[in-house]
Amino acid sequence: MEKVESDQLITQCPLCRDVAAAVAGDLDRLVAVREHSIIVVGEHQFFPGYCMVVARHHAREMHDLPPEIQREIFDDVMTLGRAIEHAFTPFKMNYVSLGNVVEHLHWHVIPRRADEADPKAHPWAESARFTEKKTTPGEARRVSRLIQPFL
Ligand SMILES: [Zn+2]
Repeated sequence: MEKVESDQLITQCPLCRDVAAAVAGDLDRLVAVREHSIIVVGEHQFFPGYCMVVARHHAREMHDLPPEIQREIFDDVMTLGRAIEHAFTPFKMNYVSLGNVVEHLHWHVIPRRADEADPKAHPWAESARFTEKKTTPGEARRVSRLIQPFL
């Protein structure tokens, strides 16, 4: 990939911008910087403890990455899932990687609670309400502090 294309990706891709900010120590929602990913608190806390693993490379598909990087990112997803389970004791974890809206590899790691209106619905069923629980910098720090000891 040419340098110019790479610079354009960082400018245009919201997750490339998050990775650059995280590595520079300037991302409110940062939980951890890993070798091949960053872990961030989700943009909303409609599901308390919801976080994401974002690849540090701008890859569109998991299978486009070298196998060892695929494994390390998957390990990061599992490590985050266990950490959220310890910190938030959900009744079920949801792991979601779609990339239809933002074509930069990322995993949503979503703790589900038994007392939700419909705990068996997919996690976007009530997406119109996500903005009600938009993550503030203070909430991001609180969630991050709860999860970090288990990473
Ligand atoms: Zn990107």
